[in-house]
Amino acid sequence: MPTQTMLEKYASLAVNIGANVQKDQMVVVRSSTESKDFARAITKEAYKAGASKVHVQWGDDYVSRYGLDYQSEATLSEVPKWLIDQTQHFIDEGACFISITSPIPGLNSGVDPKKMQTASQARMKKLSFFQNHMMGNKTQWSIVGAPNPEWANKVFPDEKDTDTAVEKLWDAIFEACRVREDNDPVAEWEQHNETLSKHNRILNDYQFDRLHFKNSLGTDITIRLVDNHVWAGGNEHTTKGVEFNPNIPTEETFTMPHKNGTEGKVVATKPLNYQGNLIEDFWLVFKDGKVVDYDAKKEKETLKNLIEYDEGSAYLGEIALISDDSPISNSGILFLNTLFDENASCHMALGRAYPMNVKNGTEMSQEELEKIGYNQSMAHSDFMFGSPDLEVTGITKDGKEVKIFKDGNFVI
Ligand code: ZN
Ligand code: ZN
Repeated sequence: MPTQTMLEKYASLAVNIGANVQKDQMVVVRSSTESKDFARAITKEAYKAGASKVHVQWGDDYVSRYGLDYQSEATLSEVPKWLIDQTQHFIDEGACFISITSPIPGLNSGVDPKKMQTASQARMKKLSFFQNHMMGNKTQWSIVGAPNPEWANKVFPDEKDTDTAVEKLWDAIFEACRVREDNDPVAEWEQHNETLSKHNRILNDYQFDRLHFKNSLGTDITIRLVDNHVWAGGNEHTTKGVEFNPNIPTEETFTMPHKNGTEGKVVATKPLNYQGNLIEDFWLVFKDGKVVDYDAKKEKETLKNLIEYDEGSAYLGEIALISDDSPISNSGILFLNTLFDENASCHMALGRAYPMNVKNGTEMSQEELEKIGYNQSMAHSDFMFGSPDLEVTGITKDGKEVKIFKDGNFVI
């Protein structure tokens, strides 16, 4: 376990920079049983920040796995009314949300993918109002990570002692999140957010028509952006104007691709953890925005499930730029978790786009959004394709080319 001081600093970061808990606001903490100490620390910091009431919702990945194994498909597709009511209650109360992710990689391998699909689709469908609430930034929300023994052993396979592996993973997470013994992480994050906004501003001013990505691994892809797109990253604002950081850590500057505007091939540079399975060494080919061909050395079936999850999961909803020279990339650690790994590298997401990535998007109806090229899906899965030799070129509406990345890093 990390020292109490480090845990408190990290919890304070989640509360004050992540969710930015407001005075008298209700806070919902979603935690795995694996991360109970961190959930307790967050609860305490949230009260110290003025929370009116903190609800902790506990989950356990093993319990979920047994459910998938032993429940019938019919039972798995039931979404109880009380869950819907509770979710609505949190929304009505104006609660903000802090989720602690503590994944157990590979736990769901061997589960019938169809059952997994059924369960998650039923939930997503009945709780889509909650998805829209969060994705539309109607309130503050933040995702942070905490280690567990199985995860630590997978990240550090050569470490024989599990406690040491857990310790190492805590250190790696603190490093990635800019939490150190000798700093004030909250102050450092305010500065970091400033740097990210600067990149956003430059890219927003260009309003590129499309971006071209090329590297020696075979990535050669053009992504058209929606008109009036907004580059975002770092802190965001709720529709009521409250700042928050949806992801800690975050290094990305991202925007909305046009649903039908992607052409070419992208080669992934890190494995993708989807529904507990690791898809490795994969590539995708797009035509008119849609995945028309793909392959993976491992878990091709899982990749197929993701692409065929629904109509929108075969299209892109996000394109994100991150310099190869960044803390997580420099650590060389593969966290086997998107929250961390996506911040090591340029990535794109299959599935749903973020309304905030287009001007006035959070006020547009679903129909209005789809008209301008927004991709609607129940899925949103990020995969990494950045590399030390990645070149990114922006092409303006009048055909002017601007180098954005050279040798894997931002040059604007
Ligand atoms: Zn992203
Ligand atoms: Zn994403």
